[in-house]
Amino acid sequence: MALVVQKFGGSSVADPDRIKAVAEHIVATRRRGDEVVVVVSAMGKTTDDLVRLAHDISPAPAAREMDMLLTSGERISMALLCMAIIEQGEPAQSFTGSQAGIVTDTTHTKAKILDIRADRLRESLAAGNVTVVAGFQGVSTDSDVTTLGRGGSDTTAVALAAALEADACEIYTDVTGVFTADPRVVPEARRLGRVSFDEMLEMAATGGRVLALRSVEFARNHGVRVHVRSSFTWDPGTWVVSDEELEVEGMEQAIISGVTHDTSEAKVTIEQVPDRPGVAARLFRALADEAINVDMIVQNVSSQGHTDISFTVPHADLVHTLKVMEEHADDIEAAGVTHDADVGRVSIVGAGMKSHPGVAATMFETLASEGINIEMISTSTIRVSCVVAEADVNRAVVALHRAFELESA
Ligand code: ASP
Ligand code: MG
Repeated sequence: MALVVQKFGGSSVADPDRIKAVAEHIVATRRRGDEVVVVVSAMGKTTDDLVRLAHDISPAPAAREMDMLLTSGERISMALLCMAIIEQGEPAQSFTGSQAGIVTDTTHTKAKILDIRADRLRESLAAGNVTVVAGFQGVSTDSDVTTLGRGGSDTTAVALAAALEADACEIYTDVTGVFTADPRVVPEARRLGRVSFDEMLEMAATGGRVLALRSVEFARNHGVRVHVRSSFTWDPGTWVVSDEELEVEGMEQAIISGVTHDTSEAKVTIEQVPDRPGVAARLFRALADEAINVDMIVQNVSSQGHTDISFTVPHADLVHTLKVMEEHADDIEAAGVTHDADVGRVSIVGAGMKSHPGVAATMFETLASEGINIEMISTSTIRVSCVVAEADVNRAVVALHRAFELESA
């Protein structure tokens, strides 16, 4: 008998018909003899609606109360899903994150899981139940209800799979897997059969919207194999697995596995910064102290003792960032602060580029032949990213997908 964790996102349980269809799939899995732990998100856009409601009341809702509010979405879907499973003849029990023993730190609205005390889930499974757990929530070491950040149900599923030593962790969503590019931008994009944890991490961090970044980190750190698939077609999707597993299967690593893009960031430049020790430290400490997440950073070569420093931040943090930087620009005798909100990032990701020279050159040549100017560049061992004008992003993705022959690999 295998133990499977099945996670269903908001679109998979958006209305009563969807909930019944999902229940049918769970019941069928159970009747094949497997034990099933289900993790469920809030129905449809419920979480967005609750966030809006909170902001109608307060411009900066108290974080503890925000968590209390948002966790109610998953309570609704888990109870309804259990009712549907029971209606179809299988016993089922729902559990909040707290009841499921998901213990987190005390950081409201973006808590981290510290421990899973799964005794109660194991008892429920042993009694023959399908066990349904509310996604994206836990209980803090101070006994308060917490949430894991938007999209956190993926992390709940992976963490439970690790704690219960599940045989598989299936993430059901409204797409059929992980693609070589966003199919809305590149219609020829292909579903990947397998992708490594490291590639998935880079994709999730650079705009691939299929899995939440933290869930991939968790899966990699705990060796949880994840199967991303559709709850609309129920077809096999994409497996996210370790490098070792890919090697055992003798799969040749693709040079490039995918092209991702992200238009959620803005570029900020501090101009004419004096070129002396401690200046960058000071600027970025100030941003860190304000909990602003800086992404790409570029410092130019200096000329005449001055240099420009550019970096990207989420759009949502732009106003705050400019305020903090303007406060510091005078102190460090910089010439000024400029910004560009209309930028986007295009990235190519692939484990094979470690052993293949020339990948970056091909990327830059491709953008050049499209007349697209590169504003910033950053790399990791398996990724190259370029910041370009937002208006050029889709064209860049299409051209790169073609240049690396991803439609036919
Ligand atoms: N319902 C939460 C959200 O929309 C958690 C999740 O769906 O993973 O962010
Ligand atoms: Mg979601």
